[in-house]
Amino acid sequence: MRAETARSTVDGNAAAGLLADVFGVDVTVLVGVCGGCSAAAPLAETTVELDETAAIVRCRSCTHTLLTVLRTPSGIRLVIGTLRVLERR
Ligand SMILES: [Zn+2]
Repeated sequence: MRAETARSTVDGNAAAGLLADVFGVDVTVLVGVCGGCSAAAPLAETTVELDETAAIVRCRSCTHTLLTVLRTPSGIRLVIGTLRVLERR
């Protein structure tokens, strides 16, 4: 959808229900599509490099970084990498 073809434009609160439908489950069952190689797999099947401050989630097929989760003094930060699609099937 393009902004000029949207039926209405509202603030982000309008997406809350759809986002809850995606993230309201165990996220490891969500299927991610890699923007590097187009591989699709549940997040549980990715490769994760882990230490006390970060989890770097990599595509098992091409090793590109799909996303990174960081613990910072101000909270948790999710940095999207080459993750192109996250889908609840
Ligand atoms: Zn990949």
